[in-house]
Amino acid sequence: MFGIRVLIYLLGIALVIWILMRLAKTPRVEKKSAKKVGDMVRCTHCGMYVPRHEAIQDSDRHYCCTRHRDEDRKL
Ligand SMILES: [Zn+2]
Repeated sequence: MFGIRVLIYLLGIALVIWILMRLAKTPRVEKKSAKKVGDMVRCTHCGMYVPRHEAIQDSDRHYCCTRHRDEDRKL
């Protein structure tokens, strides 16, 4: 009879495999953020397209640089 000791041993191995599999497939969020980076907005002043995260936002308008935002405000 080797009963319980073997059972605990097998459960231990199963647990280790389960933990390793979980660690292997953790980062799956990157795809979503990569799509966000590809989102382009148009500069209201010069019409150039810039990534949304790099654009300067002024209420509902977007600008490629602070200079264009300031020049648009003067008008
Ligand atoms: Zn511009």
